[in-house]
Amino acid sequence: MNEIPLVDLKANYLSNRDEIDAAIARVIGNTSFIGGPEVRAFEDAFAESQKVKRCVGIASGTAALYLVMKALGIGPGDEVITTPHTFIATIEPIVSLGATPVFCDIDARSFNIDPAQIVAAITPHTKAIVPVHLYGQLADMDAIMNIATRHKLWVIEDAAQAHSAARDGKRAGAWGHAACFSFYPGKNLGAFGDGGAMCTNDDALADHIAKLRDHGRSTKYEHDLLGYGERLDALQAAILGAKLPHLEAWTDVRRNHADFYDRALRDIPGVSTPAVKDRVAHAYHLYVISVEGDRDAILAGLKARGIGAGIHYPIPLHLQPAMRPYGGKPGDLPITEHAARTIISLPIYPEMSEDQQDSVVAALVESLAEAVR
Ligand SMILES: *Cc1c(COP(=O)(O)O)cnc(C)c1O
Repeated sequence: MNEIPLVDLKANYLSNRDEIDAAIARVIGNTSFIGGPEVRAFEDAFAESQKVKRCVGIASGTAALYLVMKALGIGPGDEVITTPHTFIATIEPIVSLGATPVFCDIDARSFNIDPAQIVAAITPHTKAIVPVHLYGQLADMDAIMNIATRHKLWVIEDAAQAHSAARDGKRAGAWGHAACFSFYPGKNLGAFGDGGAMCTNDDALADHIAKLRDHGRSTKYEHDLLGYGERLDALQAAILGAKLPHLEAWTDVRRNHADFYDRALRDIPGVSTPAVKDRVAHAYHLYVISVEGDRDAILAGLKARGIGAGIHYPIPLHLQPAMRPYGGKPGDLPITEHAARTIISLPIYPEMSEDQQDSVVAALVESLAEAVR
C-alpha cells in the first residue's frame, strides 16, 4: 500500500534541495547565526511578497502573536474576541498576557469567524479582534475592519495558515493593524524548525516588535525596554529565503489540487467540499471537507487505506480541558461544535500527483460506503 501523507516535507525539500543546501552552507560558512543579512533579506522579501510595508522575523507564530499583543498593550482586564475553531496558539498569548479570550461562533460554510457574532460579543472591555484566516481562506475582513474602526479595536490577523492568500487582491497581513505568520515546517512556507513573523504597515509598531524580540536592545549593551529572546534564527531565515521564490507557484498548484478534489467530490453524496467566498484567493493550507454520517469511522477507513487524513480541529477551544476555568460548555457555540464533529482534512501539498489524488478520492468513496454499513 502506498501511503499518502497529509503533507510531504521530504518531497518539498527535494524539489528545491540545491538552493536550500546552498543557503544552509552560506550561514554556516559565515557563522552569522543570529540576526545579520539573511534575516533582514528574508524580512524584506517576505514583506514584499505579502504586499506590506514591514516584516519582523520572530521565533514562531505563537511568539509573534504574543509580542504583537504585548506591544499593543493587551493585558489584565482586556477582552479579545476570536474564534474557537482554530489551533490553541491563537489564544495562548491572550491568556498569558492576563487578558480573556471571548469566543464567537463561526460561519457554517467558510469556518471563519462570523462578523455578526463579533458585534454581539463587544463589551466596554473589548480591546482587540483576532480573526484567523483558517485553512488559508481570508476571514470576512471588510466587515471585521469596519467593526473595529467603529469600536476602536485592534485587529491582529492570525495568518499562520494564509501565506499568499488574498481577498480583493489584498493579502493576508495587509488588512489588520498587524498580522502573524507561522513558518512551522508543515505550513505553506515552512522552516526546518520553528519560525514566525509579524507583518504591518505601521513602522513604529514594527520597530517596537523588533526590539521586543531581541531583549529590548537599542545597541549591543543598551536595553530600552525589557523584552524577550524570540528572534528568528538566521539558518531558518536563509532556508525560508531559498523557499520563498517558489511560494506563488506552490500556492497555484495547491489551488489546482483543490480544484481537482472539488470536481471529483462534487457529486458524492454525503460530502461537502470547501466553500470559497467570492473575491477570495484561497491558499489551501488545508483542504477540509465535511461529511455526513459516522465521521470517525470514515476517518478510520482512510487511515486503514494509508491516507493521512486529519481533523483541524476536533475539540473547539471553549471545550478544551485547559480552558475549563472560563466555563465554556457543550452547546455554547453550536456551529463550531458541529464543524468539529463533521470535518476531515484530506492530504494536500504541492508535490502531490494526480494518481495520489485519485487514490485519496477512491479511498474516501470506499470509506464512506463502509461507514454506512
Ligand atoms: C501554526 C499555527 C499557529 C502557531 O504557529 P507556530 O509557529 O507553530 O507557533 C497559530 N495559529 C494558527 C491558526 C496556526 O495554524
